[in-house]
Amino acid sequence: MRIGIDDTDAPEGMCTTYLGAVLSRRLAGRGFRVGIPRLLRLNPNVPWKTRGNAAICIDAEGDPKEAFRIACGCVDELAVLGAEGTHPGVAVVEDPPGPAFYRKALQDFCTIDEAREVLEAAGARYRGWKLGRGLIGAAAAASADLPDATWELLAYRTPDRWGTCREIDHQSFFVSEDATSPRTWDTVDRAQGIVVCSPHTPDPVLFGIRGESPWWVAYARSFLVTEPAGMEQLYLTNQSTDAHLREGRIGALEEGRSYRLAGVVAGTAETGRGGHVTVPLADSGATLPCMAYEPTKGFRDVVRGLRAGDRMEACGSYKGGSLNLEKIRVLSLAEDAERRPPVCGACGKRMTSAGRGKGYRCRSCKSRARDPEICRHPRTVACGWHEVPPCARRHLARPLVRGGPNGKDDTGGRIPDHGGCRVHGTG
Ligand code: ATP
Repeated sequence: MRIGIDDTDAPEGMCTTYLGAVLSRRLAGRGFRVGIPRLLRLNPNVPWKTRGNAAICIDAEGDPKEAFRIACGCVDELAVLGAEGTHPGVAVVEDPPGPAFYRKALQDFCTIDEAREVLEAAGARYRGWKLGRGLIGAAAAASADLPDATWELLAYRTPDRWGTCREIDHQSFFVSEDATSPRTWDTVDRAQGIVVCSPHTPDPVLFGIRGESPWWVAYARSFLVTEPAGMEQLYLTNQSTDAHLREGRIGALEEGRSYRLAGVVAGTAETGRGGHVTVPLADSGATLPCMAYEPTKGFRDVVRGLRAGDRMEACGSYKGGSLNLEKIRVLSLAEDAERRPPVCGACGKRMTSAGRGKGYRCRSCKSRARDPEICRHPRTVACGWHEVPPCARRHLARPLVRGGPNGKDDTGGRIPDHGGCRVHGTG
């Protein structure tokens, strides 16, 4: 059977992944055979998410009625039911539905009624608390397929420390990154000099190490020096896969969806209030403002370096009429050149235009010249992929160390192998 859970947390505490880790242990303790749980990120643009729009799926063998009872007990006990925006959902399916509903929840918007329909059709046991909106994530998680997947080892704090400042040795995270990158990613942001895999929110997460195999995340974890973790859980996940991106076309984008699309830069980038940078991208007569927000830090310099006529692909979410950039691929660079009248070879003065198509003329000595002076500016941006730094990365965005979007190795980067894969560190 598959057990899907979602919407148990609130800004002031808890995390559905924590609840999933507790549930896995309770099921195992009651004699269920429990697989490695899955952490599914869904549409990052849903307005009612608490943080990263995560849902959990647990594969288990045993009595479904008992599993449902235990799962509901976990939600009753641990979910922040008093919080206004928390509307948990639990679903147990013996015969998982196809992945269509998961894919819709990942790339589009779903209703609670649609989730109920999917669960009814699958003969699921399910329960929603309050509005029951978590049934969307629960049904999506239970129907998920993972054509591409990565791993995350999540460590949780002991409950007595929740809400207090996390004690971590920052340097050990940099040592871990040095020893395991690019097999792991997004542990630290070197350019900013900060640890990015340990949150500052009051939830139970101590840190999460992301990587290409259970062995690599466990190896990376072995370098970390922190306060004692109360529990550690390995998750198979759709994070870092670009699974949220659809192929898109400028002029035909839908609000709240994420796209990979192509176009030609139609002007120079402008830096607005707050340091946010915008550049227009055009295709077939339609123009799309592409945004690199202030938190994307040095990535904004790449966007500022674009020039009209550059051809590129862009990946990001379409919100409020613009594309929030996650990464771009510069396909070709236009010439960045200025044309102006040449300097007169005879008297050294700047010539003036002699009229359209008539070349140039020197006002003082009347000499003539046919061609303008061309002043070429060196380009600061290179062809190829450019991405936001780890501190601004979205959970679903595929980092370039994993190869290009949608599994195509069009970065010139390497596709990781999965050698030396040894499962441990499930805690
Ligand atoms: P948590 O750790 O509790 O999962 P979160 O940041 O992941 O926190 P939630 O609190 O779960 O966010 O809120 C997201 C809500 O949005 C859930 O109720 C989920 O069922 C719902 N949801 C997820 N994806 C979609 C979607 N594509 N369309 C509509 N609702 C969605």
